[in-house]
Amino acid sequence: MTESAQPPVFWRQPAAERTLKQAAAVSRLSRAYLLVGPDGVGKWAAAQWLAQTLLCRQDNVRQRPCGTCEGCRRVATGTHPDWHALFPVPSSTAEEDAAAFLAAKRDDPFAVVRFKKRPYLGMERIRDLITELNKTSVEGGRKVALIASAEQMAGESQTILLKTIEEPPPDAHFILTSADPGRLLPTVVSRCQMVRFHPVDPAYIAERLIAERGLDTDRAHLVAELSGGGWGNALRQAGDDAETWRHLMLEFWKGAFAVGTGELLTQIDGTFRPRGRGVGFDLLLQAFDVWGLCLRRDCERSVAGDVRADRQRLPGASVPDLETGWTCWRILQNGRSTLYVNVAERHAIAGTFLALREQLRIP
Ligand SMILES: [Zn+2]
Repeated sequence: MTESAQPPVFWRQPAAERTLKQAAAVSRLSRAYLLVGPDGVGKWAAAQWLAQTLLCRQDNVRQRPCGTCEGCRRVATGTHPDWHALFPVPSSTAEEDAAAFLAAKRDDPFAVVRFKKRPYLGMERIRDLITELNKTSVEGGRKVALIASAEQMAGESQTILLKTIEEPPPDAHFILTSADPGRLLPTVVSRCQMVRFHPVDPAYIAERLIAERGLDTDRAHLVAELSGGGWGNALRQAGDDAETWRHLMLEFWKGAFAVGTGELLTQIDGTFRPRGRGVGFDLLLQAFDVWGLCLRRDCERSVAGDVRADRQRLPGASVPDLETGWTCWRILQNGRSTLYVNVAERHAIAGTFLALREQLRIP
């Protein structure tokens, strides 16, 4: 997407926009915000806007963020010394991955960035952040900390952070973002002012994909539905490698119904390891979504033609009756959430496929 076509900061999020802009206009921004909503709806863009508002040098409060002063510009380029943005990265390649993540977010704050290995937010980084916030600000103004995907902090890290949020160092502000706030400690959630970001209407996302990305109508609607209402997700799924992953998953799915349990684990390793676990499992999550959507539509008696064709090529993939269809759909949804949090992904995948086979009576 060209820069000019980037969505505005609060893209179709009128409630969040109103809440934050009203508070900013009267200099009553909270010391701790929790921005909640699915991937790709603009939480990062809003966090950056908040940081700019807090670090802007424009005298007139109502005109902050001006977007042009040095404070605003340095937040945008990630070079402001009092702007600390933390996000999960894989440990072994942290610096390289962090640089790539920030570059992608600079190009498009709505981008959904995935890593080859499983990212996490280590306790050391939370401790380092707190140390920084306890120092006097470099520029003599406020200090702003962003913790993106905050639910990826372990419980202990959350406890450490909680103490600081409860008694924040002078002039320190916190912005947490999360697509899954249920994994945050209730005490952390209750200490922050929650601002909700909602999924954008898939019909509108499809419209934009057709107009700006040149997708054909059927594909645009499929991608929009799979995006979960996140523009960043939609862009990722509309990307060049979308066809490759679809083919890869089709082959994997065929195999997963045809082999024994032991072989299934080998097949999982063979498919996902070479691509890096993060990317591989991300592909599978997308495949779960495609099949989940397909099953749901099957139950609703209308299936997108291209996905249905894929599924009909699979052994035992036709659903015998409505009840079995719904059960399979639930197995996939359950598999999806297990895969998301489970460290032993290969067993989570194997378990999902074995449950599907049992349900579809495939020996
Ligand atoms: Zn400014």
